[in-house]
Amino acid sequence: AAKEAGRGQLRFYSNDLHRKAQERRAIEEELRDALHRGEMQLHYQPLTCPVENRVKGFEALLRWDHPVRGRVNPATFISVAEETGLILPLGEWVLRQACADAVAWPDDIRVAVNVSPIQFMNENLPTVVANALASSQLEPSRLELEITESVFIGDSKATRETFDSLKRLGLRFALDDFGTGYSSLGYLRDAPFDKIKIDQSFIRGAVTEGGRGNAAIIAAIVSLAEALDMDTTAEGIEAIDELDFIRERGVTTVQGYVYGQAMPQEEVLAMIEGGSIRIEPSGPEKSRSN
Ligand code: C2E
Ligand code: MG
Ligand code: MG
Ligand code: MG
Repeated sequence: AAKEAGRGQLRFYSNDLHRKAQERRAIEEELRDALHRGEMQLHYQPLTCPVENRVKGFEALLRWDHPVRGRVNPATFISVAEETGLILPLGEWVLRQACADAVAWPDDIRVAVNVSPIQFMNENLPTVVANALASSQLEPSRLELEITESVFIGDSKATRETFDSLKRLGLRFALDDFGTGYSSLGYLRDAPFDKIKIDQSFIRGAVTEGGRGNAAIIAAIVSLAEALDMDTTAEGIEAIDELDFIRERGVTTVQGYVYGQAMPQEEVLAMIEGGSIRIEPSGPEKSRSN
């Protein structure tokens, strides 16, 4: 009987895999046309100074509104785009659109753009970025590229050359999701990052009972960043007590629902219309314990 049950489970498992593979193929097909059909949009999430409540920048986040599936999660389609190489045209569109949108913002406000490791391994990236800057006329120092630690796996000479030639364009680099990958501190010393983004997995629970481990890690990252002359952003701040905690640690900017989710360009422009951009934080008083 146990054997039978085991076999049943195996069949269920492989059906599930089959279904997932089919789903992936479908997404791949539909992703090919999504850009031309105008289904892709960039939304912008504020990066806010927690002391003055003043917006310092926005991170561009891709949104795909599929006519049938509805809103597709980036976690689903970005990995498909990376596996199929579609991330290259998609990423180029993101860079161009983000630079073009940011030109309409006040000039002390930056735009942050996520760059996938696949884009980073492509030798054309510096040209793609230079073209996006040139055609938009965006000041290069207002563009911040977010890359993850995985870009440095293997730490090839080519990676370093791409990094340096992008840096020479005058833009900034942020190290995204810090602490979640195969962290090696060596590249923090060697590569001139301008900012470290503290992953939200360290935030949740840092202020609650038993969160001392996370709190210690956050404090260590902030003092490391300060010593290396880098800014910090805390990701995923949702509750007021999390914001208070992070403010006391001296984090440069906060990104999280407490200051707002990603919004379309029209809403960003409407905020700017109301003068310099300040946001009153709002959210639950207490952090949810995971
Ligand atoms: P990321 O770059 O780490 O972006 C931050 C993610 O955290 C976003 O998820 C954002 O909506 C979410 N977030 C922000 N504040 C909060 C909060 O208070 N609570 C919670 N629970 N979540 C919060 P999103 O938009 O779903 O994007 C997921 C990931 O997809 C991004 O992570 C990034 O790695 C990737 N991605 C998004 N747009 C692009 C893009 O244009 N190019 C590339 N290569 N990747 C992108
Ligand atoms: Mg990011
Ligand atoms: Mg991040
Ligand atoms: Mg993240």
